[in-house]
Amino acid sequence: MHSDKVKLLRDSYPFIADDLAIDCGDGWFDILKALCDNLMKIRQPVRSYIKLSLIKQKQGILCIYYSTKEYLVDEIADFINGAINITVEASKTVCEKCGQRGELKKV
Ligand SMILES: [Zn+2]
Repeated sequence: MHSDKVKLLRDSYPFIADDLAIDCGDGWFDILKALCDNLMKIRQPVRSYIKLSLIKQKQGILCIYYSTKEYLVDEIADFINGAINITVEASKTVCEKCGQRGELKKV
């Protein structure tokens, strides 16, 4: 992802550490932003424990992991996993390059 877009996400959301590379195309900016907006619903101080630890394209699909520095109750962990799943599913129908509607193709 273009460094300007990564900076925009990094400046807007606490989940993206300075050293996290976002290894996917610009077309997925909007769905990553939607994920971060969703995660902003988590109350403090819990929100501050959560960092996205890996964001990359793998076999045409977004691959996202997160880490937490404190134990999360099931309700919060389920919420985060659900939000990530929605994002991963969305990546199957959105073109990684241009952000238009797309489909997963085997190449
Ligand atoms: Zn496209």
